[in-house]
Amino acid sequence: MSNTSLPINRRVLTVDDNTSIHEDYRRALCQSQPDPGIGALEASIFGAPAKAGPRAMESFEVDQALQGKEALEKLRSALDSGKPYAVVFVDMRMPPGWDGVETIEHLWQADPSVLVVICSAYSDYEWSDVLSRLPRRDQLLLLRKPFDATEVWQMAESLCHRWAIAQLQVKALEGANEQLSLELHERERAEERLRHVALHDQLTSLPNRALLLDRLGQCIERQQRHPAEVSAVMYLDLDNFKIVNDSLGHRAGDAVLIEAARRLAEVVRTTDTVGRPMDSLAARLGGDEFVVLLQDVSNASEALRTADRVLQALSAPYVHEGRELSLSASIGIAIAGGNGQTPEELLRDADTAMYQAKYSGKGRCALFDAPMHTAVLNRMNLEADLRGAAARGELAVVYQPIVNIESGAIEGFEALLRWNHPTLGSVPPDAFIPIAEESGIINAISGWTLNIVSQTLQGWRRDFPIAAGIYVSVNVSRRQLADPGLPGSIASVVERWGLLPKDVAFEITESAVMQHQEAAMGILTDLRARGFKIMMDDFGTGYSSLSCLHRFPIDVLKIDRAFVQTHQSNRDYAAVVHSIITLAHNLGSVVIAEGVETPEHLAQLQALECDLAQGYLFSRPVPASEIEAMLRAKPEFRAVAA
Ligand code: C2E
Ligand code: CA
Ligand code: CA
Repeated sequence: MSNTSLPINRRVLTVDDNTSIHEDYRRALCQSQPDPGIGALEASIFGAPAKAGPRAMESFEVDQALQGKEALEKLRSALDSGKPYAVVFVDMRMPPGWDGVETIEHLWQADPSVLVVICSAYSDYEWSDVLSRLPRRDQLLLLRKPFDATEVWQMAESLCHRWAIAQLQVKALEGANEQLSLELHERERAEERLRHVALHDQLTSLPNRALLLDRLGQCIERQQRHPAEVSAVMYLDLDNFKIVNDSLGHRAGDAVLIEAARRLAEVVRTTDTVGRPMDSLAARLGGDEFVVLLQDVSNASEALRTADRVLQALSAPYVHEGRELSLSASIGIAIAGGNGQTPEELLRDADTAMYQAKYSGKGRCALFDAPMHTAVLNRMNLEADLRGAAARGELAVVYQPIVNIESGAIEGFEALLRWNHPTLGSVPPDAFIPIAEESGIINAISGWTLNIVSQTLQGWRRDFPIAAGIYVSVNVSRRQLADPGLPGSIASVVERWGLLPKDVAFEITESAVMQHQEAAMGILTDLRARGFKIMMDDFGTGYSSLSCLHRFPIDVLKIDRAFVQTHQSNRDYAAVVHSIITLAHNLGSVVIAEGVETPEHLAQLQALECDLAQGYLFSRPVPASEIEAMLRAKPEFRAVAA
């Protein structure tokens, strides 16, 4: 701090009812005096360069008042003009007006910072009495009359400096306060940021579960008061997001989530019409799960329309590092309004509907209702039971012969899963395979199945020479196509049991191949290169046309039983079956007809030059022990049409 910034104020007010005293003050204060050492003191405190030797000091600017009231007026106008007094000299007795103490009280009321010198001619005047009547004792000095001019000057000089220092302290304090309030402001902002972090998802910046539940609570409350204002909750899950994450990495996954969040927020923004009582809101619950709270929809179909717009927005391609990805989403909708419904229950209902949407084919939306709740609950229970089914020995594999139509010889078997549930009894694969696929349990189950099948086939090979050329076909779930490591792990299981790739075939449905063309092509090509046979299952039920059949690496085409069983009564079907067989033969593929139940089915297929057949006409799928009995009893191993 430099001494130039020290605001030395040399303004002095003298208050006395005696004009000759004012003259004395003037003489003492208004002419230059030799430096009594205060200049040096100032230099040591404020760093001003001390001048050599005593220097002449400036005089003071002195104003006068004859009475306390006049003094107060002068002090006020000095304050108003921005030129306050530093020091006031006050006579103790000024009849008939205020006495010295009263005057000082008024002056301090108007300007608490002014310094005061009390002048008294009366030695009997009790100083302690004055002190007891006045506050701010540190701003008060006593001067006895008659005073010495130098003493007055010294007092004024030193008090003016003190005043300046006090002003500096006040300023410093104000500065500190300002700093403090800045810090407080910062702190409030930091707290605000913390609150935001606590209520929002970091990745997408959308509101999180906590904020959503809070808003759902408000919604439910409001709806109880205004039943006409219906709110809907959309629970949304990206289909196959895990595949993006697993195959392209988390960075790609994050980018997709951020983009999906942006699209969601955009739909919500454009859906919300002005004048709704509250804003709609898109939130992220975590992973690839989002929720949209739609405020004040007129009815369920408005919510469904919005859900369609969301599905559309989310299904547009995502571009990440030059790669185009496409994803769909499944949406469950629940309408708020149940009596005593909690936010969690509302969310759970929407989740249930989402589960249903996903189960019925993904890329769709479903509206929650009570029966759905039961169905989904059953399915969830089944899913929980399925997780430990293989370990508890509840799963089994049955085998259905695949028969050469021309010779009647058994060429192979299809392996089919069975689940013996401890309380539900036999659960058909159509009921549990989709659950296993949706929940991801299918990978473990498929591994278990292939292992059992390989072990069984190895046993047949060992015990029955006639089984040397027999193969077993195993079903591959669409979900497994997402795993590029599948061919490698299949090969190692088969090898572990001492089998060759040609001993095992893999069946993959036409619809799975068509849905995941790129992934399917990679996996099927790999499996085929390793020597495994590939069968296209359920042919005719998917969306492929005959013309794209040649693109896939297929050894065997399995015509779905719907064609086999209707083509007899329907000439068009017969024509289709005929062209399928002809085309497959032209492509070098073998054809198996599924669902052959009657001798008529068989005769017709024979006429159409179908190669192989499978169906109840020959045998139902049976346990390995029954196949072994057949192998033992029939050395020529022919299937006898029942
Ligand atoms: P799929 O692969 O088309 O299997 C053929 C289904 O047709 C089997 O039903 C079989 O029992 C049935 N079937 C065979 N001959 C006839 C017949 O003459 N008439 C009629 N009406 N049906 C016949 P299943 O065993 O109930 O299996 C149903 C589906 O479950 C299978 O269809 C397959 O998609 C799936 N599945 C079964 N086991 C597995 C498995 O280990 N892994 C996978 N991923 N899916 C499996
Ligand atoms: Ca099959
Ligand atoms: Ca089939």
